[in-house]
Amino acid sequence: MQPFPERGSAEWRLLDAAHHIHPFTDPRALAAGGGTRVITRGQGVSLWDSDGNRLLDGLAGLWCVGLGYGRRELVEAAETQLRELSYCPSFFHTTTPSTIELARLLAERTPPGLDHVFFGSSGSESNDTILRMIWNFWDLEDQPRKRILISREYAYHGSTVAAACLGGMSNMHAMSGVLAGFDHIMPPYSYKYGQGMTPEEFGRRAADALEERILLLDPERVAAFFAEPVQGAGGVLVPPASYWPRVQEICRRYDVLLVADEVICGFGRTGQWFGCDRFDIRPDFMTVAKGITSGYLPLSAAVVGERVARTLERKGGRLAHGYTYSGHPVPCAVGIATLQILAAEGLVERTREETGPYLERCLREALSCHPLVGEIRGVGLLWAAELVKDKAAGQLFDPAGEVGERCLAHCFDNGLLLRAVRDALCFCPPLVITRTEIDEMVEKAKKSIDQTAREIGLA
Ligand code: PMP
Repeated sequence: MQPFPERGSAEWRLLDAAHHIHPFTDPRALAAGGGTRVITRGQGVSLWDSDGNRLLDGLAGLWCVGLGYGRRELVEAAETQLRELSYCPSFFHTTTPSTIELARLLAERTPPGLDHVFFGSSGSESNDTILRMIWNFWDLEDQPRKRILISREYAYHGSTVAAACLGGMSNMHAMSGVLAGFDHIMPPYSYKYGQGMTPEEFGRRAADALEERILLLDPERVAAFFAEPVQGAGGVLVPPASYWPRVQEICRRYDVLLVADEVICGFGRTGQWFGCDRFDIRPDFMTVAKGITSGYLPLSAAVVGERVARTLERKGGRLAHGYTYSGHPVPCAVGIATLQILAAEGLVERTREETGPYLERCLREALSCHPLVGEIRGVGLLWAAELVKDKAAGQLFDPAGEVGERCLAHCFDNGLLLRAVRDALCFCPPLVITRTEIDEMVEKAKKSIDQTAREIGLA
């Protein structure tokens, strides 16, 4: 039974404007654009709004719906668990079979040495969990001066206080400031920072920025480096091959813990189970969320490596940390079913060998020569087309974001949901997407880019 009355689109929009605060949204721009679009149904890679329009979801919701919408198996996993046991805390020497089973499966799937799992409900929460564990770890190791966290400009690690400080989004810092002890270095964004260098040179240069900052701050004060294998919400920034080996060497040299935020990269997105597999990263922690339940229910995890887990277990005593929903049995059951489907349908391999390369080919064929497209970059089923002011000179738009926003509006009107990060149009479709649907997605994106180019006189 539907727990709310039937209403028309206009009425939903009015109620939304009156009562609902949207994340990362300017309410005046929302109103000026005619209000919210009410999405009522989803199946596969398609969504429908309350006016009956179909949209192809090229962003898997918010980089999360790996298995597409309407998967019966995931609904059944949730329903079965809800009927059997709807909730149980993991606080009081208690927990549930689905919680334990998902922890076991994660330990099995993640790289060697990452065998201990602390559950949360969001990527932000799990990054906070990791941060508290890091500070606790260095205290227990008699190095209480190791407190500073380094991450990168344009990084997104979440919206809780610590995660917003950890991230490198200047608009988020402007909203509420940044606490002391959070530091940000240049990201491996070659289109912006690496012009005139080979990828190999730029990868080393971007990694060396970490060493320079550690030395500037004092290695004895630097606790950890947080980074996504591929920066997703930062605009799909794919590091050159020379980047990650050097970053790992630097972290080892100065005994700085390495956290791989796999919230977007995890569960097949890059064509491997994890971005760490794709780039041969051996971190001390991994953050996972989003694709772990294909976005069907909120769930995240801090996966803790051997070194920290051993110290916390031997010297940490009672862990003074936990969320009401840590290890909630229902999302954990959906997580197990998600992992089973990813494996049974070979979706990780399919992303690596078939759909990922096909999407790359389609994007390059359609957009490489486009006057508005400066760069096409990506991996697996995570891609971006950077819209630029001057393709020949390699020049980005300034201010950033207006052209991306305009293009996104055309995508919407053409029945395609994407996301623009500054002026980079991001593609992150459900992993179940077919070749025909990829054709449709790229065709609609090209049409929208053409319309944008004509409007700004670049066609
Ligand atoms: N880390 C990364 C890399 C993310 O992309 C996100 C969300 N986009 C988060 C953390 C935060 O996750 P959540 O929104 O679930 O808190």
